[in-house]
Amino acid sequence: MIELPKLPYPENALEPTISARTLEFHHGKHHKAYVDTTNKLISGTDLENASVEDIIKKAAADPSKTTLFNNSAQVWNHDFYWKCLKPGGGGAPSGNIASKINSTWGSADKFFEELKNAGATQFGSGWAWLVLDNGELKITKTPNADNPLTHGQKALLTIDVWEHAYYLDYQNRRADYLSGVIEKLINWDFVNANFG
Ligand code: MN
Repeated sequence: MIELPKLPYPENALEPTISARTLEFHHGKHHKAYVDTTNKLISGTDLENASVEDIIKKAAADPSKTTLFNNSAQVWNHDFYWKCLKPGGGGAPSGNIASKINSTWGSADKFFEELKNAGATQFGSGWAWLVLDNGELKITKTPNADNPLTHGQKALLTIDVWEHAYYLDYQNRRADYLSGVIEKLINWDFVNANFG
């Protein structure tokens, strides 16, 4: 059985970029539903005591387990997403990742432009990512629940671009939500910890 992880900050901590009402529903309803459905699907099976990562990998390899893949991957994606944000975050990259971003994209501004573009152009629901792929930084986007774990990549940073992540606060203005997250909320300490 897996558990709904607590948010790493109070529900109102990311205001005004992300409202308490959005986090109340996003964490308390959407994320919780992914946890509950995953638990229902693994109950009484050989995955009952498996880690979320193992559940995702097993389900990804089995076409009969699409629902389990979608729900368990969304559990992982959201847990990762909450950690990618923090009150008073955002702005210029810091630490070791900053020089790697500069050597990969030429400047932080160019990196932000491409990250924002990936999130804005993901058609429908999905995620924008910064990943490590064979030692190189890449910006990717994935549809629905898909994530870097099943592509042999290491996730460093993500932004949820499902409508439930921004619609209460920004309605159809996904680009404004992306700008807000990039400018005000990215937790560079977490990104650097993932980068190692
Ligand atoms: Mn979400």
